[in-house]
Amino acid sequence: MNNEDLFKNIIGHSKEYGFIFPSSEIYDGLSATYDYGQMGVEMKKNIRDFWWKAMVQLNENIVGLDAAIFMHPTTWKASGHVDAFNDPLIDNKDSKKRYRADVLIEDHMAKLDAKADKEVEKAAKRFENFDAAMYRATNERVKGYMDQKEAIRTRFVNALEANDLTEVRQIIIDLEIVCPLSGSKNWTEVRQFNLMFATEMGAMAEGASTIYLRPETAQGIFVNYLNVQKSGRMKIPFGIAQTGKAFRNEIVARQFIFRMREFEQMEMQFFVKPGTELDWFEKWKQKRLAWHHAIGLGEQNYRFHAHDKLAHYANAAFDIEFNFPFGFKELEGIHSRTDFDLTQHEKFSGKKLQYFDPEMNESYVPYVVETSIGLDRTFLAVLSSSYKEEKLEDGSERTVLALPPFLAPVKLAILPLVKKDGLPEKAMEIFNQLRFDHNIIYEEKDSIGKRYRRQDAIGTPFCITIDHDTLVDNAVTLRDRDTMKQERVPIEQLSGIVEEKVGVRKVLERLG
Ligand code: ATP
Repeated sequence: MNNEDLFKNIIGHSKEYGFIFPSSEIYDGLSATYDYGQMGVEMKKNIRDFWWKAMVQLNENIVGLDAAIFMHPTTWKASGHVDAFNDPLIDNKDSKKRYRADVLIEDHMAKLDAKADKEVEKAAKRFENFDAAMYRATNERVKGYMDQKEAIRTRFVNALEANDLTEVRQIIIDLEIVCPLSGSKNWTEVRQFNLMFATEMGAMAEGASTIYLRPETAQGIFVNYLNVQKSGRMKIPFGIAQTGKAFRNEIVARQFIFRMREFEQMEMQFFVKPGTELDWFEKWKQKRLAWHHAIGLGEQNYRFHAHDKLAHYANAAFDIEFNFPFGFKELEGIHSRTDFDLTQHEKFSGKKLQYFDPEMNESYVPYVVETSIGLDRTFLAVLSSSYKEEKLEDGSERTVLALPPFLAPVKLAILPLVKKDGLPEKAMEIFNQLRFDHNIIYEEKDSIGKRYRRQDAIGTPFCITIDHDTLVDNAVTLRDRDTMKQERVPIEQLSGIVEEKVGVRKVLERLG
């Protein structure tokens, strides 16, 4: 199965089993907006909790915050979003489809990468009878693709830095990029498009003022920096963490929950002494990568990507990319934002946002290292790499979500073998003991095989079956989702065994 079909199956599966639904589906949905169903909401919460515990609970110098989505409109003037939170858009005149000009160019560069990879793959296949001439020719071709890519990159970065949209369009024309839909090269001018959603606060008449739905959670942290520092008596270096909704009127929203217009971020701003920010940047890069690795989706699925063009406020920026079904794409950004945001807020509010350093006996505006990750993108990473269609030894098939147990929406399913002979009552007794520790399910409908398949499909790590022997020996059969192996365990040990396997503690311990 190719990746496109696989991705379609994942989307279908997540709807069928209550993970993600298109928003307001009975009205044919709303583009790039999704709802999390009964399973999705649990898994999303588990991911959010894992992030919160790793950031706030494990770091004694990081505290949390929950700022409002609505903020004073001047916030967005100060942050630069009103003037510069733009994407360059371009329309194809034939298909009337709208694209991000930068994405068209980046996709073109990715194609050159793919061509170079193909050359290397071809060479590897002919390895046995490879001679010097063939080696040189392959080398030449690979170098050719890479040189082309570098030339495009340089031209593109220069155009962006000069804010030269005519040149951005010219690059698209020169590269003969076609609209994927119509195949035509009939492009409009490139225009800047602000991504913020605006609305009115108060009655529509007099006194109403335009406010924005926040496009990132970070600004709520910056404007509260002094409140937290003073009320929490925080000493630099310290961090403030926050999770919450953000809104962007994305030009091209696609790839399911990868790029939405309403999404959730998990951000942490770490305030440091000026001059130490690049050391902290390096530390946070490594700490964040370790967090991703601890989830257990395979270290080979992550890579760092240095930004081609630094934002005007940043002096270092890296993305952590994940190998999604549609290739490596940004999952988290780690940015060294200097003192830009706090200084801007000082300027626009007229309030001092400084820190008095008792060791140096002087005040300064702290520098900030930021880690910013998309909760929905992390959800997609977990979902897509856990989805498996398996052929079993007996010839049957099963679809299983091999989710990391600590993130699974349901930890344990309690299944009486039959609906009679006192088995449901015994099962409910166990259910009533264990529900205090974990999110568990009780199910008595359908054959036991069908019930196992259903639990596999939602990623439940363990099922227990209550049979006639249970009434005699007070033991149950515990079935493992991944190995499908079954073992007999005493009821009184169940809670401990399950906790050992599905608890988040072991995973957090790996982060130290
Ligand atoms: P991209 O280049 O993909 O548009 P970005 O660089 O604009 O992302 P940031 O502003 O750094 O993203 O936001 C931090 C994180 O928030 C991203 O790494 C991503 O995980 C998440 N994110 C940003 N935009 C969206 C979106 N439209 N839908 C879902 N998640 C998003």
